[in-house]
Amino acid sequence: MTARNDSVVIITGGSRGIGRAAALKAAAQGFKVVVAYATNEAAANDVVSQIEATNGKAIAVKCDVGSEADILALFKAADAFGPLGALINNAGIVGPTIRVEDMTAERINRMMAVNVTGSFLCAREAVKRMSTKHGGKGGVIVNLSSVAAKLGSANTYVDYAASKGAIDTFTVGLSQEVATEGIRVVGIRPGLIDTEIHASGGEPDRAHRLSVHVPMKRVGTADEIANAIVWLLSDDASYVTSSILDVSGGR
Ligand code: NAP
Repeated sequence: MTARNDSVVIITGGSRGIGRAAALKAAAQGFKVVVAYATNEAAANDVVSQIEATNGKAIAVKCDVGSEADILALFKAADAFGPLGALINNAGIVGPTIRVEDMTAERINRMMAVNVTGSFLCAREAVKRMSTKHGGKGGVIVNLSSVAAKLGSANTYVDYAASKGAIDTFTVGLSQEVATEGIRVVGIRPGLIDTEIHASGGEPDRAHRLSVHVPMKRVGTADEIANAIVWLLSDDASYVTSSILDVSGGR
């Protein structure tokens, strides 16, 4: 099954970076886009305005994916916008660079709540709406992982890398649960992508500094990840499920 182009796609963290690029490209494909954001309302409204300026349809909805109540409210708002056809579990956080021996339980729990539990709960709500078993018309779930899941992010943020390892396993397991219910579940592991996430980890230039270690010797762009996302949403990927695609310049 493939996401229907006149259906709604929910993009968590759709206000900036990869989520923003995916929102613009999904709208160009005909999706009605729910741009979910955590705090930056102005950035989310800017994405909505850009989509509307090209005759697309979009709404901005505040949702901290670390909060189940916010997630339920997000899906309620999406229900009022139209039938759900796709979910992009994109919202994710890193933390300041730190070794495991210095991590607090509070930091680790927040990382897992946002990156892992948030993705599970959003997927739960999406499956309830899209599964043919529940009377839905099928759809696609795209989970944003990271090459960190394979590399481990030693001396940087092992908790983040481990959260993305959980996302990879989640992608495989959920895809198999719903494979005969019209839903494809896929993952993308971005490499070093030029977004503001690196500044939130304390080093705005991190991606560029590490780009010498990338076989292609450059960082990637949010658009290059969004291109993979919209392909995975499309009919062209109709036999692709349970797969996790590295989009990382070879890293
Ligand atoms: P980004 O530029 O930092 O943008 C993060 C987005 O997520 C923003 O829209 C932000 O909303 C939202 N967000 C942050 N915390 C949230 C929360 N608690 N609940 C809901 N939304 C939240 O990030 P990005 O680089 O585009 O990353 C997107 C995804 O790709 C993440 O899952 C990340 O782990 C993954 N990834 C990124 C890279 C990379 O190099 N950039 C590499 C591998 C994987 P506000 O605008 O409201 O703050």
